[in-house]
Amino acid sequence: MTVVFIPKETAAGETRVAATPETVAKMAKNGLNVLIERGAGEESFFCDSAYQEEGATIVDSADGFSRGDLVLKVAPPSTAEAGSLKKGAVLVSFLMAGQNQDASHAMLNGGATAFGMELVPRITRAQKMDALSSQANIGGYKAVLNGATALGKYFPLLMTAAGTVKPAKVVIFGVGVAGLQAIATAKRLGSQVWATDIRPEVKEQVESLGAKFIEIESDDGQTEPSVYAKEASDDYKKRQAEAVAAHVSEADVVITTALIPGRPAPMLIPAAMVESMKAGSVIVDLAVSQGGNCELSQCGEDVVAHGVTILGHPNLPATVPVNASELYSRNVLQVVEHLVPVKENENHDLILDFDDEITAGSVAIHGGSALHEPTATALGVPVTKTKTPQESETTS
Ligand code: NAD
Repeated sequence: MTVVFIPKETAAGETRVAATPETVAKMAKNGLNVLIERGAGEESFFCDSAYQEEGATIVDSADGFSRGDLVLKVAPPSTAEAGSLKKGAVLVSFLMAGQNQDASHAMLNGGATAFGMELVPRITRAQKMDALSSQANIGGYKAVLNGATALGKYFPLLMTAAGTVKPAKVVIFGVGVAGLQAIATAKRLGSQVWATDIRPEVKEQVESLGAKFIEIESDDGQTEPSVYAKEASDDYKKRQAEAVAAHVSEADVVITTALIPGRPAPMLIPAAMVESMKAGSVIVDLAVSQGGNCELSQCGEDVVAHGVTILGHPNLPATVPVNASELYSRNVLQVVEHLVPVKENENHDLILDFDDEITAGSVAIHGGSALHEPTATALGVPVTKTKTPQESETTS
């Protein structure tokens, strides 16, 4: 029988947990032996007794790591955690392997398998496992709340006996999952919202939320829909800077969410653009942990430059730990049910099927080798190819 272990997160500021009593109940019902580290859920307000009631056993960290066949985490493992995985154990977690090289090497050397939640292919079958989306949604929501709190102004239009208060102006860069939620939240708070994205096809989504789209002519002069953004040309960047300049200089809050898969975040707000903004305005840089969209943002810091407050919180989902853990845990439960199928698996064995597109796409490290090309490149080791999975239809 597969033993599942959920450790308490150790990264600074990480309040989330990879299983809730709800998902523990499901895993126990599926025949898994669930161990959870004492206090693992306390920062998400899930107490040990709630896990016990659903069938989990409370253990200490060393016990859990020595017995866990399947270890469920949120933040990328520390080197110590990676080194504590037993040989053949499967870690399911955000990995960011390229940025966590020591831990990744520890897993390569120790013979553990690393399944990256950020690597799950965006195909229809894997939608319920999409932790990037579940957490980005929370980040977009919280970015607006933090921006509104740091702004010395109201968000909505108000007509009072003492006069009219104008609504705040919010500009959003990047209309993926986080950006869409930021638009929706900023609109709910009553502000006026403008948004821009390198993918012109998101215009309709922006407008359907009641915001205005800042149009920028595409590189090739035509609209070519795509789910993922590519690096913009220098010429596009110049056109983009011109198109957004007036909006940014008049904005009260700017929220940046722009990312390019597998690359550092694009720099969209240079220092000179910050300088053009009004004193008291706020930038929330959601891309800060990946290099940032604003030249002056600093990871983990709130800085004031040219009178503009720039918020650089690297992990906003962890500031909404209850829902972030609930949603992440459900994503992880889907992965667990994928790796330990309920049907035709009487012994509840862990099955790594590299003919399966989800497993093949998400496992970065296995059997002492790197299976994922960008991970191998970042770690300076050769990539080991598994069988090429069948192409599946992607959704948007
Ligand atoms: P992301 O986090 O990778 O990037 C955020 C946004 O930044 C994207 O919209 C991107 O186009 C934009 N961006 C990148 N460079 C930019 C630049 N220079 N200037 C302006 N904007 C820039 O994106 P995401 O949240 O992962 O979503 C990307 C797309 O994938 C969305 O359309 C989303 O609806 C879709 N999606 C699909 C699935 C699926 O299962 N198929 C799941 C989730 C999201």
